[in-house]
Amino acid sequence: VRIECIAVGTELLTTQRVDTNSVWLAERLGELGLEFHRKTVVGDQRADLKALCAEALDRSEVILCTGGLGPTFDDFTKEVWAEVFDAPMAEDPASLASLLAFHASRGRTPSPSNFKQALIPVGAVVLPNPHGTAPGVLWRDPPGHPGTLVVLMPGVPREMKHMWASSVAPLLEGRGGRPMGTLRMVFGSTPESLLAERTQGLRARHGDLEWTILAGVPHVELLARSRDPRALEAALADCWAELGEDLARVGAGGVEDTVLECLVRRGETLAVAESMTGGQLAARITSVAGSSRVFLGGLTVYCAAAKETLAGVPPGLCASEGTVSGPVTLALARGARERLGAHWGLAVTGNAGPTEDREGPAPVGTCLVALAGPEGEGSTSFRLGGDRAEIQARGASWALDFLRRHLSPSFPEGGGML
Ligand code: ATP
Repeated sequence: VRIECIAVGTELLTTQRVDTNSVWLAERLGELGLEFHRKTVVGDQRADLKALCAEALDRSEVILCTGGLGPTFDDFTKEVWAEVFDAPMAEDPASLASLLAFHASRGRTPSPSNFKQALIPVGAVVLPNPHGTAPGVLWRDPPGHPGTLVVLMPGVPREMKHMWASSVAPLLEGRGGRPMGTLRMVFGSTPESLLAERTQGLRARHGDLEWTILAGVPHVELLARSRDPRALEAALADCWAELGEDLARVGAGGVEDTVLECLVRRGETLAVAESMTGGQLAARITSVAGSSRVFLGGLTVYCAAAKETLAGVPPGLCASEGTVSGPVTLALARGARERLGAHWGLAVTGNAGPTEDREGPAPVGTCLVALAGPEGEGSTSFRLGGDRAEIQARGASWALDFLRRHLSPSFPEGGGML
């Protein structure tokens, strides 16, 4: 089935609002074994919408439209579609009754413009909207387009979701194939280009899967899609075998989830000290429900004095070694561990930019991570790309991943860097 989505609203073309409706609908379609072959955002311009309606009717069997069903002058989705099908508008008694009831329940009198919401194109079916005033509209086999389904839903996400579940999804159930499955793999400290290179052979061997590498912030994701669950299982087994140590997580969540699960399993606790990431490391950890079982606390120590007084960095060390240095980062990890009485102390320093650090050898993107734990201490350094926000977010991921590599059972504990 060729399905397309049209999201109507000028605000969706600006920075004011992101079209989340189509993303949500794509997820629901996936559950039914269906997918969009196209989606478009169009502003509140009648001519643009009308042209798009005609194009969509030519290329799609199901058209899901959201937005522009409201009472104001810039809401005309229903009217434009009615023009396309040459259908006059007529007042729908049930829609009028629910409109009056909706306003009465809020002690309001509907304004004249509200009544246009009770006008429905002749030949269309009304989809009730118990959560708002704009009813949905449905055409099955509209004039000149047999076999086509056109659905107009409100733009308000909550209203659209209810209408989808109660009126639209049942029409599409059974029309899809086997649901598309997605294998999601998260990499906390493997750059996108390296991952692309390292998975080249693997992706070719499993060429029947759709592969995507998402180089997002704060981590990199490798996605494989297929309708065949056995093909996904086979790909996962090969990924484990070839990328095991680098693979931070399979399925939902991020590196922080894996770190916390490992700590819970080991019955160990964590404390952090961070400068460059400005609290993001602690925020990432505490974003996971249940983190209080293993996370004791974090120190955000930005200036040298804070590093000394709060994290116990030896006086003068920042001056002699530079604040972005191995010895200072290690002293921070040690300090966090000792001051908070944790099994593990994790620390990050670096330069997130945009200005170069003239006092030390720390170009923009430099990130140092140190770990102090029951089996010893270790540190590592690397250069991160991106702007300030990206460097900070990626720095937190690299730090978490450094810890994960030492906690995860697939990594030889006590060996390597420690
Ligand atoms: P209503 O009559 O209930 O306002 P409507 O169909 O006229 O519904 P719009 O006026 O287009 O809907 O949008 C209402 C709200 O929903 C706005 O805040 C808008 O930004 C939001 N919205 C509309 N379309 C989308 C979308 N595709 N994704 C996310 N939010 C959306």
